[in-house]
Amino acid sequence: MFNFIKQAFRSIYTQFSSKLAPILKQKSLDEQSIKELEKLLIAADTGISTTRYIINRLKTESAHISLDKTLHTILLDTLQAVPQPSTNAQIYLLVGINGSGKTTFAGKLAHYYATQGKRVLLVAADTFRAAASAQLHIWAQQAGVTIVTGDAHQDPSSVIFAGCSRYINEKFDIFIIDTAGRLQTKTNLMHELAKIKKVITKQLPHSTVQTLLTIDAMLGQNSFEQAALFKECTSLSGIVLTKMDSTGKGGIVFAIAKELQIPVLYVSYGEKIDQMVPFDAPKYVQELVYERI
Ligand code: GDP
Repeated sequence: MFNFIKQAFRSIYTQFSSKLAPILKQKSLDEQSIKELEKLLIAADTGISTTRYIINRLKTESAHISLDKTLHTILLDTLQAVPQPSTNAQIYLLVGINGSGKTTFAGKLAHYYATQGKRVLLVAADTFRAAASAQLHIWAQQAGVTIVTGDAHQDPSSVIFAGCSRYINEKFDIFIIDTAGRLQTKTNLMHELAKIKKVITKQLPHSTVQTLLTIDAMLGQNSFEQAALFKECTSLSGIVLTKMDSTGKGGIVFAIAKELQIPVLYVSYGEKIDQMVPFDAPKYVQELVYERI
């Protein structure tokens, strides 16, 4: 049986779920268990305000229902309160800072669709980092998909323009664009992303675009600041949480939902091409609260 947490996020299980179990076994919440739960949630990067929200609801709602059931409801509500984008997108625009796992995820997403029999076109629009195109080339070969690259320092929009033409002319099903991840000012980032999006909507006006922000799950508060900056610069469809294999901090998912109101849509959990899954909120919460090794 596919097991969302134990397969992908073993460390989340050992650092979070397994410690949650003894707290949830109790009949009601006393001061001591509130403190323990608070500590556990904060250590898991749930954030102070989301942790307070969860504990306050737990205190009021667990009077007549068991603690585990109440916590399950609250955690799932938190994730499901965030509006979800359309699921049948053809175009995926990946944004995020260097090192956040963007190129790796582009390769994994290409593989994910290629294994479903889709014809995938990858575009290496990060013309600023010399190794980025070469890295994406390797992923494209591994996934068995076509790739469009540009010259070093070529305007990313012109590479995307060339990609759009091939997408149309050669009738690809899925179009994945890896963008540059330079740290830059808000105004520059805003202009660059607006220019890229204008090229896409002009060339492909009838396609559905998902703009996905990759954030490194290990970076905690820094990831939040990055996500907030990107959210101010462009409209984001969702977040790809990367490096979930290297963190035990499973609470970040709730903080992102509650504080940023952006859905987590995918998780990436390793360096192999098949180590990513679409994020499944009910499964995640179910296993976080109930699964036992
Ligand atoms: P980019 O600069 O945003 O394109 O980031 P890369 O895709 O180049 O990834 C940066 C580093 O993180 C590389 O060494 C990747 O192998 C590694 N990496 C990316 N995703 C994951 C992941 O999910 N888990 C682990 N453990 N490492 C990852």
